[in-house]
Amino acid sequence: MNTFTLSRWRNLGIIAHVDAGKTTLTERLLWASGAIHRIGEVHDGAATTDFDEIEQRRGITIGAAAVRIDWMRDDVDHRLTLIDTPGHIDFAIEVERSLRVLDGAVAVFSAVDGVQPQSETVWRQAQRHRVPLLAYVNKMDRPGASFARVLAQMREKLDATPLPIGLPLGEEAAFEGWVDLVDPAVVTWDAHGNAMRRAWSDESALHYVAARQRLVEAVAEHDDALAQLWLDEQPIDAATLRAALRRVVIAGLGVPVLAGSAIRNKGVDTLLDAIVDYLPSPLDRPAVPAQQGEDTVLLSPDPQGPLAALVFKVAHQDHGPVTYMRVYSGTLRTGDAVWCSLSARMRRIGRLAVVQANRTHDIDMACAGEIVAVLGWKDAASGDTLSDAHMRFALDTIRAQPAVLAWR
Ligand code: GDP
Repeated sequence: MNTFTLSRWRNLGIIAHVDAGKTTLTERLLWASGAIHRIGEVHDGAATTDFDEIEQRRGITIGAAAVRIDWMRDDVDHRLTLIDTPGHIDFAIEVERSLRVLDGAVAVFSAVDGVQPQSETVWRQAQRHRVPLLAYVNKMDRPGASFARVLAQMREKLDATPLPIGLPLGEEAAFEGWVDLVDPAVVTWDAHGNAMRRAWSDESALHYVAARQRLVEAVAEHDDALAQLWLDEQPIDAATLRAALRRVVIAGLGVPVLAGSAIRNKGVDTLLDAIVDYLPSPLDRPAVPAQQGEDTVLLSPDPQGPLAALVFKVAHQDHGPVTYMRVYSGTLRTGDAVWCSLSARMRRIGRLAVVQANRTHDIDMACAGEIVAVLGWKDAASGDTLSDAHMRFALDTIRAQPAVLAWR
């Protein structure tokens, strides 16, 4: 493990108002990434069989608090951990706790219903935790779908700066694709959701070029490097625009927006690309404060640093209790004895695991930046911090902050 690979990790949540399509989208993300097998590549052109199979496995995949998948972007493998954020307002504290461990999130809106109250609440919670966001406008295939209306509502209701990174090609029953404005192309999808890219046609190019210029201008407003190129009338290629947009997103100044239809398997792969392109890795996030006695220390995601891991969810699954945690600093190893802040005692790490769609996979160690589970701990508590006996950090106490010492 080194910091190079850590830059390819994304720990993200999917937030949405109930019914916006979070469950459907999560399933499609797992499927598109191959975490769930592409069973029956083609069954008379219908993908339903595959999704029936997914449905049967839902208990395992969708029930898990964190699922790890891999996604190739430009021939580079990335590791994504999808963290479940409870959607229901009754679980506000659980939502807060799960938002703490995210590096970024995808907000799902319905193209028909737009920005609804629950998404507004979770959006604001995410902003309080400074979690950079992407927006995915789902259900573009449904009667009444409007991409433009969702953008307007994001501005009005969320005070957000939506940065549409493309344009839907058609709406409602005519929704068939996506005009990529960052890396100019028209994208359509086959029955399995695989993208097919083609150049902008001559008659539409003028319109798309103007839309791309508006995007460049909007990003340049928040990014000096891009603004300079823009002022100098330099050509702005895909890589330059993508890098500038990534900086803007990580700084929390704007939200890339894309659209699709999860149920029709359209735009799922473009979303996975956007997650890699724009959401931060653990290395892009600020150091986290931890209490140590009367002091506050700042911990950065260094596998060689002192151990600090935060428990954010305790679940009781078929095979026993599962304690989900994020390692913020140091390395957690099986066999280690760790100090637990809430119960104020030492515990041994018996089994460490990650959930990969349909199976739980045992591992020997987990480094800073990883989301993992300890299996078999009875009476574990969400909010607990694990650290070395002589360090005794607490990541989840909010109280008056004395001097902040940088950790060295
Ligand atoms: P959740 O409550 O946010 O998890 O939403 P679900 O994923 O359960 O979806 C709610 C309903 O919307 C279900 O009936 C889905 O089949 C449907 N749905 C989800 N995505 C789409 C979509 O892209 N288009 C259409 N037409 N329906 C969708």
